Amino acid sequence: MLEVWFTEQQTASVRLGLRVDAILAKQKTPYQELVVADTTAYGRMLVLDGAVQTTTVDEFVYHEMLTHVPLMVHPNPRQVAIVGGGDGGAVREVLKHGSVDAVHLVEIDQRVVEAARCYFPALSESLSHPKAHLHFTDGLQWVREARNFDVVMIDSTDPIGPAIGLFQPEFYQSVAQALGPEGVMVAQSESPFLQPAVIQTVVRGMRTAFPVVRLYLAAVPTYPSGLWSFTLGSKGPLPGPLDPRRVVTPTRYWTPAVHTAAFVLPRFVEDLLV
Ligand code: SAM
Repeated sequence: MLEVWFTEQQTASVRLGLRVDAILAKQKTPYQELVVADTTAYGRMLVLDGAVQTTTVDEFVYHEMLTHVPLMVHPNPRQVAIVGGGDGGAVREVLKHGSVDAVHLVEIDQRVVEAARCYFPALSESLSHPKAHLHFTDGLQWVREARNFDVVMIDSTDPIGPAIGLFQPEFYQSVAQALGPEGVMVAQSESPFLQPAVIQTVVRGMRTAFPVVRLYLAAVPTYPSGLWSFTLGSKGPLPGPLDPRRVVTPTRYWTPAVHTAAFVLPRFVEDLLV
């Protein structure tokens, strides 16, 4: 029997292999190579420049932990911006918070949104919500002009190509300027096993712009090593005990207990942050 396998070269010496049932789309956009395929184990998958971005089986972990953690740390999030995130999964989660008046998605590559609308309706439906505003431009420039946001989320690709600037201290300083006095930001910051230097770059960069910087973890099986990190920067609010009156439903990974536990770091990860 013919078997087709997708291989992601995650580092020079680590690969992920997923059995593929069908390839649905493959195109070069002005920014990257985009592939949509159905996998046997993880459902439908979006791949950009050879790197898995999202799969229908494990996307909930990443999207819930990217969004609900900073939204719960902020006392009353109303204005939210997401840089990247063209699949729509982060917008879907943000809209579960009744306090949010508007969520701005700043995606450099319109083709990602078009592919999401075509192949990932459960993620991209949110992009048609009246509170969702789409901007097809470079997040680096857009954030420089933005002001008075409560939460800014960086839902980017890896630090290569158009995303390089999103991992630099100057960008975190622009994000801090774009936030109000109690503003909170979060950035996906890769794997402590396979990209420890990225975590250090993000944490050190954010420390130049925010008085409070904390790392937290979640298990995302299709991302390199499966153990994924997020870095939260805050101008004031601390990730402490949650107000029990603030709930978010429905969720499949995030709970108040998971939220608190995610900030408890194994020793080898703590050691990266000194
Ligand atoms: N969940 C995914 C992950 O962590 O691997 C990220 C998903 S999302 C599809 C990443 C998006 O960031 C891509 O669609 C890419 O086009 C976008 N992106 C990369 N650099 C960007 C930039 N400078 N401004 C705005 N969007 C950018």
